[in-house]
Amino acid sequence: MTAQILDGRAIAADIREQVRRQVDARRAAGQDAPGLVVVLVGENPASQVYVRNKQKACQQVGFRSELLQLPADTSQARLLQLIEQLNARDDVDGILVQLPLPAQINEDLITEHITPTKDVDGFHPWNMGRLVLRQPLLRPCTPKGVMTLLACTGIDLVGKDAVIIGQSNIVGRPMLLELLMARCTVTVCHSKTQHLADKVRGADIVVAAVGVPRFVEADWVKSGAVVIDVGINRMQDGSLCGDVDTDAVAARAGWITPVPGGVGPMTVATLLQNTLLAADMHDRRS
Ligand code: NAP
Repeated sequence: MTAQILDGRAIAADIREQVRRQVDARRAAGQDAPGLVVVLVGENPASQVYVRNKQKACQQVGFRSELLQLPADTSQARLLQLIEQLNARDDVDGILVQLPLPAQINEDLITEHITPTKDVDGFHPWNMGRLVLRQPLLRPCTPKGVMTLLACTGIDLVGKDAVIIGQSNIVGRPMLLELLMARCTVTVCHSKTQHLADKVRGADIVVAAVGVPRFVEADWVKSGAVVIDVGINRMQDGSLCGDVDTDAVAARAGWITPVPGGVGPMTVATLLQNTLLAADMHDRRS
């Protein structure tokens, strides 16, 4: 078997087009284009790339977007004050503070300070709690983007066995909740999991979010399984590599995501969907 490729770039382009049309419709109805503010603290090179991609995507769909760049020695108090100002601004529908933050700033505190209906990353405990309760509003972008990719396979997810490798707050845990809500039976693995390869061998759907290049090997994967590679690892030669040994696994899997061009563009596309939803919620409140 040679896996079919889940082309995140093409699917994300379709989503951008849908969002762009909805922005046009908002404007035609006399409403503002959605407004996103991205806050970047410091000069982490990966964060700079992610922020640039997000800004570009906002421009493509006609959002109003603003980038606030703060020096690496910004104090926590200053960032909290800035978030309060953004929370109060009526022209701001979505606020995204790019993670990771410098060590002097408590990320959880910052996330909790953002008004939940402007939390377009979906990381605020209120949004996470809604996902736990199966009443999602703003959903964490990467797992929601993975669900969109899975929908594009046309496979009925109900009753499927899914294995997630990784239990982080931004990927693994919300991924568990998304797959559970889709009625999969989900196993979440982490660094202390025993017999990991055997668990993966039983899975119809594998989501790898480990941060270790080519971690998932071909003989772990059930024939025909859907393999979603969330990993983005920068190699010494500057190239990007996922958490799955893609070429080898593609010989067994039914579907596979490439890196780059799989989950990454879906994360950004989902951010646009969230910002549009936040703007709609904002309109209903005012
Ligand atoms: P993270 O916070 O470092 O979490 C990694 C997870 O992998 C942890 O739960 C860890 O287990 C587990 N793990 C590490 N080594 C393992 C091993 N040998 N066996 C089993 N589990 C192991 O990472 P993250 O933020 O979730 O990100 C994961 C990857 O996805 C990274 O490459 C990141 O760059 C990428 N990413 C991509 C996107 C995108 O848009 N495509 C978005 C976010 C992240 P413990 O909990 O036990 O430590």
